Amino acid sequence: MRPLLGQPNVTLLVNAEVQRLETDPAGRSVTSVVVRRGGRDEVYEGDIVAVAARAANSAAILLRSVSDRYPEGLAKWFGAGRIPIAGVAHQAGTCRFGNDPATSVLDANCKAHELDNLYVVDTSFFPSIGAVNPALTAMANAIRVGEHLLGRMS
Ligand SMILES: Cc1cc2nc3c(=O)[nH]c(=O)nc-3n(C[C@H](O)[C@H](O)[C@H](O)COP(=O)(O)OP(=O)(O)OC[C@H]3O[C@@H](n4cnc5c(N)ncnc54)[C@H](O)[C@@H]3O)c2cc1C
Repeated sequence: MRPLLGQPNVTLLVNAEVQRLETDPAGRSVTSVVVRRGGRDEVYEGDIVAVAARAANSAAILLRSVSDRYPEGLAKWFGAGRIPIAGVAHQAGTCRFGNDPATSVLDANCKAHELDNLYVVDTSFFPSIGAVNPALTAMANAIRVGEHLLGRMS
């Protein structure tokens, strides 16, 4: 984060917990992010929303993002039920990526299949946990998706 904090268009909110995402009535785009800060809810808007709260927390945010259009939450995240304590360190695969919306949540650029502007950029995107520790792969993928977003915004 540190290199970004000097940028005029970057603001870091601390003690801020994302409660849910809201979409337009058609359910095609995320229109706002509801954040709880200092006991109050605040609403933030952006053309593109990237979630990276760690695999279980990202899925929880999507689960809480219920609406008439999405009564079970956004992006058809995957839940694993009870996980032993040893399984929570290397969380992965709650929003796996792939080309087929029937078997994946995100497309190859980590954008939710059914939404135009929602990206999930943490270990959620792994189709399964790797044989080695996941952090460097998650970072490399975040850089890859960042380059995609730069292209999309230019
Ligand atoms: C004990 C332990 C040891 C580990 N050792 C290794 C290792 O040696 N090598 C390795 O590769 N990996 C290791 N891991 C796994 C590694 O830490 C994770 O895979 C990696 O940190 C995941 O990165 P992330 O950005 O997805 O999540 P995080 O690094 O957890 O970042 C997510 C951020 O989102 C914030 N957040 C969560 N929910 C919300 C919300 N609702 N609103 C706002 N913010 C929110 C959190 O506060 C956090 O700052 C270890 C994990 C643990 C627990």
